[in-house]
Amino acid sequence: MSPIFDLHTHSTASDGALSPKLLIEKASAIGINTLALTDHDTIAGLSEAQIAADKHNIKLINGIELSSQWNNKTIHIVGLNINVNSEAIIDATIHLNQLREERAIKMGEKLRKVGIEGAYENAKRLAGNGTVTRQHFSTFLVENGHAKNQTEVFKRYLVKNKPGYASVEWPGLEETVAQITSAGGVAVIAHPLRYKMTATKLRNMIQEFKVLGGKAIEVVTGHNQSKEIETATAYAKRYDIAASVGSDFHSSNTPWSQLGKLVSLPAGLTPVWELW
Ligand code: AMP
Ligand code: MN
Ligand code: MN
Ligand code: MN
Repeated sequence: MSPIFDLHTHSTASDGALSPKLLIEKASAIGINTLALTDHDTIAGLSEAQIAADKHNIKLINGIELSSQWNNKTIHIVGLNINVNSEAIIDATIHLNQLREERAIKMGEKLRKVGIEGAYENAKRLAGNGTVTRQHFSTFLVENGHAKNQTEVFKRYLVKNKPGYASVEWPGLEETVAQITSAGGVAVIAHPLRYKMTATKLRNMIQEFKVLGGKAIEVVTGHNQSKEIETATAYAKRYDIAASVGSDFHSSNTPWSQLGKLVSLPAGLTPVWELW
């Protein structure tokens, strides 16, 4: 059987449902050989994941999913095989978590203005020691009956021009790629087809990303339809950039992004794991 890779996953260190230990145990049960834990703007889950990975004979790739922006749009850059002692990465996580904290406070104030009390406090409670994300606000809002599910709650409250949305000036693409590169990691554009960008803009972003030292794009992700895999494959080939595979697993409640449930990379692409 060919090895199963999943190079984009979340734990309770950010907005995933499983602790790093439980995530690794689930990966092991599924037969995943190589797993990257890529929590939003934090590396806090990696040491617990490493202990479990050693026990279950899984190759753990130290990863992170950094919030960034390009052309005034929030984008996500995954860093794979990073050195977790790198000052650049540690400083980045401190800065990004400050931005997240400031945004969470603003989101709480905005939701209070539309009559929803305690959103900030509850999002923080749900995040525990982990990075606070919109997902935690979303869980609170659903639990309190403000919407029937996550999709609905994002649409009604948590996206641009909605009452609970607060914008953030994330670091620019150049800074994000440099942080990953200086930590010895490989920078990967996460879920490239989820940014609601025109094809021209996306092509420009990939080109610029490559010039800045970016190495790969996710070609197979949990959300992908086969048409999207074809599109991403074409981009990887056209710009001669490596290809990654990651489910973006958060929890078992999201059927479209299940751990390890990924098709193989199409032929003719350079797998990102050949870069380390
Ligand atoms: P943040 O990085 O804090 O802005 O939160 C983004 C996270 O919220 C993503 O990583 C997803 O886990 C989740 N998310 C974003 N948009 C949606 C959506 N429309 N439905 C469900 N979850 C979403
Ligand atoms: Mn998330
Ligand atoms: Mn993402
Ligand atoms: Mn993700």
